[in-house]
Amino acid sequence: AARAELRGTAPATHTADGHPAAVLANVGTVADAAAAAAAGATGVGLLRTEVLYLDRSTAPGVDEQAAAYREVLGHFPGGKVVVRTLDSGADKPLAFAEQPGEENPALGVRGYRLARRRPDLLDDQLAALARAQHDGGAELWVMAPMVSTAAEAAEFAALARGHGLTRVGAMIEVPSAALRAEAILAELDFVSIGTNDLAQYTMAADRLRGELADLLDPWQPAVLDLVAATARAGAAAGTPVGVCGESAADPLMALVLVGLGVTSLSMAPAAAAEVSHMVAGHTLEDCRRAAAAALAAPGAARARAAAEASIRPN
Ligand code: PEP
Ligand code: MG
Repeated sequence: AARAELRGTAPATHTADGHPAAVLANVGTVADAAAAAAAGATGVGLLRTEVLYLDRSTAPGVDEQAAAYREVLGHFPGGKVVVRTLDSGADKPLAFAEQPGEENPALGVRGYRLARRRPDLLDDQLAALARAQHDGGAELWVMAPMVSTAAEAAEFAALARGHGLTRVGAMIEVPSAALRAEAILAELDFVSIGTNDLAQYTMAADRLRGELADLLDPWQPAVLDLVAATARAGAAAGTPVGVCGESAADPLMALVLVGLGVTSLSMAPAAAAEVSHMVAGHTLEDCRRAAAAALAAPGAARARAAAEASIRPN
């Protein structure tokens, strides 16, 4: 019943006391984007472009890609759409970007690393995005997946800006990137934390192995520490730091993330109403209290319980 009441809730843009905390949608296809907009989403925090092309054996051309991006942008006039460049490899292989002989695909030539072997794919994608951004609709933000070093961030930023893209960022989903967030942020306009992969790589636990779910829990103190380090670097630089991993779909975690300094939350659209209700119903001070309680806990279950207790009226 509580969920039904939340159905008409508009996406949060701020905490109860006016601190920025936008709730955005994760989408993978043009149809997903249309459905998210119809359900009330005002922007996209993660467009997983590889999902558009999962069933393709040949690479999509610039025109075809531009048409798809234009259509997604058109669903969110006045909003923003964060487009992630192709994140092929490991759990989401693309036939036309197949990397033969990967013994450890999660640690191999995946995400942004694909540009080492197939710079043409990234170049076409950036050209298509640059074309789409001129046709109105949402503000286009572009980010690279699986960036591990400041040098990669600088290289991606130069390529994207060379195509005329102006809001350039990267995902923070590898521990090395979180640990060196300050240097990475210096190259970029924004970052977005991918807690799915950040948990996988921090805990050395395959994200597809259900029996390791306890290790993959984003409430794990080590994962929270890396999120906190990234958010701190963002606050110091005055740079937006989003979270687009599924942890943002947990309403209690959403408060903790805002308390750590995260400025936007992107999630499966089905979770947006409940998260919005939670964020808009709490102050930044509440969020900071929840974050401090979670960070002080010795383990995942206790971190969650401590955050919960911190916001419980007494
Ligand atoms: C993540 O890793 O948290 C993320 C948002 O990206 P994906 O789940 O597509 O790897
Ligand atoms: Mg990821």
